[in-house]
Amino acid sequence: MQPCKSKILVVGPCAAETEEQVLATARAVAGLGVQTIFRAGIWKPRTSPETFQGIGAKGLPWLVKAQAETGMIATTEVSTPEQLKESLQAGLRGIWIGARTGADPIAVQHLADALREADKKPEVVLVKNPVNEDVDLWIGNIRRIQSAVPTTTDVIAVHRGCNHRPCWRMAYALKQAMPEMPLLLDPSHMSGEADKVQALVKKAAALGYDGYMIEVHPTPSQALSDSRQQITPEQLKDILEQVIQVEPVGHNELLWLRAQIDEVDDRLWSALAERLNVVRQIGQYKHQHGLEAYQPERYQSMMAERLIWAKKNGLPEETVRSILDAIHSASVGLQQH
Ligand code: PEP
Ligand code: MN
Repeated sequence: MQPCKSKILVVGPCAAETEEQVLATARAVAGLGVQTIFRAGIWKPRTSPETFQGIGAKGLPWLVKAQAETGMIATTEVSTPEQLKESLQAGLRGIWIGARTGADPIAVQHLADALREADKKPEVVLVKNPVNEDVDLWIGNIRRIQSAVPTTTDVIAVHRGCNHRPCWRMAYALKQAMPEMPLLLDPSHMSGEADKVQALVKKAAALGYDGYMIEVHPTPSQALSDSRQQITPEQLKDILEQVIQVEPVGHNELLWLRAQIDEVDDRLWSALAERLNVVRQIGQYKHQHGLEAYQPERYQSMMAERLIWAKKNGLPEETVRSILDAIHSASVGLQQH
């Protein structure tokens, strides 16, 4: 297969589980990109304490072995200065800062201080966007790291979205603020679903991303973490074949804006579905208490409030009136059936 031209690939399992799994995955993905970096978490910041927390420092020699055998830079997630020091001392050539750590600027500053003091600097530091949609915090984290490493260390931004939403607006703002910064897309954490990885990678290719960070596991269904979103090395190869055909489009800015509007529409429609669910519950209440579905005073007070809002937000009164009318009459209609 042709390598994925000029794209940076960061691929590997969500977590290192056994030496065999780490080495088998590394062998299967080595050489797929012009620059392929291996990833595997060993200290996993998991939501629940009952789930797999990572293999810990025991996994470091496996990653170092994968590095030596394949020539790829291997990376792992570090959340504390101790983890950072241990990783670099073991011989790891790269690290990444995860989305949860990225939400805490003090933690990131501690990592930057440890990097400044480290004798052996990493060749690559990947900085994921923070879990909260905050581009300034993401930029701040990147700056903290950049100021702590020599120019020989590549600092790379990774866009992984927030709460399974892409947050294109945040990535677009980063691109505008730091046009020279390489930007990768992590479709695995962005979507949380293996089936969605391909479409997101294609979209990122068209948007002109510099590469991808993708979770790959030899047997995703048996993975100890993030099993629903990991893909096999074979699936990764198929996806990369497809992406080779996708070039960034000429109207790049339009595509970025359309990505944002599609995401806003997703939220609008989800909000509408949520509203209709509440409308149904209100319908039952009205039915049980012998109340009419249409309550004129309620309609008038909602409309009056919304028209004040329209004025404040510079929206034409007629637009707001007709949208609220449509929503309200659909809602009353639902309650009458
Ligand atoms: C990961 O890459 O495995 C990870 C935990 O990512 P994030 O910090 O984006 O959730
Ligand atoms: Mn993961």
